[in-house]
Amino acid sequence: KLSDRLQQLLEQIPQGSRLADIGSDHALLPVAAVESGKAVFAVAGEVNPGPFDAACKGVAEAGLGKVISVRRGDGLEVLEPGEVNCITVAGMGGALIASILDRGQSQGKLKDVTTLVLQPNVGEDILRRWLLNNEWVLTAESILEEDGKLYEVLTAVPEDPGAGITNANVYREVTLGDSAVVRGQDTLLQMGPFLIQAPNEVFFAKWQGEIQKLEGILTSLSRSELESAENKRKLIRDQIKEITEVLQCLP
Ligand code: SAM
Repeated sequence: KLSDRLQQLLEQIPQGSRLADIGSDHALLPVAAVESGKAVFAVAGEVNPGPFDAACKGVAEAGLGKVISVRRGDGLEVLEPGEVNCITVAGMGGALIASILDRGQSQGKLKDVTTLVLQPNVGEDILRRWLLNNEWVLTAESILEEDGKLYEVLTAVPEDPGAGITNANVYREVTLGDSAVVRGQDTLLQMGPFLIQAPNEVFFAKWQGEIQKLEGILTSLSRSELESAENKRKLIRDQIKEITEVLQCLP
């Protein structure tokens, strides 16, 4: 059985996709995607030898060697341009996922890709910013807890103004709860434009935790009399204020 986290990713893969799962480790996701009909063909990409062997084993044990191609290489370099139309990258930092997409995009590997399903462990804001700067538009976000860790799953498609799929529509003024509070783009990039509008308990837990972390930093900075420490303190106090205000507006 797939973990809840991988299940969330699976649900975001369009039916009948040609899938690439980059950083696939045991190839659990491509195996489940092919077995469920979500993918008709899949590539499992791995850069490291141990996880590459685990992916080969996972695919062989599932008897799917003919429809899942396990390839060793860095990021999207394992793909031919136009080969897949859906890419999943899960379980890495947001900055690493963004750099994999960035290098792949400049090599033409995102050509014909119509869906990205991404699960950064940290640095979600970095990844959202990459998507925004590269004309990928978020269409769904979810946040879940598993084994005491919080995970966000982001789905994005290429910008398509004719169909109304634009970043201007996603990063617009947002009304929170009953009060018409409008937030800047930075807050939406940090907290998630979809998550902020449909917050669940996990979302609250995440941001209450972030406030606690920031307060801890404030306390340690309070011992310093340096001018730079005062600047940092102000920045952190502003962040705490911003997050608190958002949480207070939510139902
Ligand atoms: N995607 C699986 C999941 O979410 O359960 C495995 C996540 S595991 C924590 C991250 C995997 O990404 C590791 O197996 C690692 O070898 C692989 N990885 C890291 N950087 C990579 C890169 N540049 N290209 C391909 N794989 C990479």
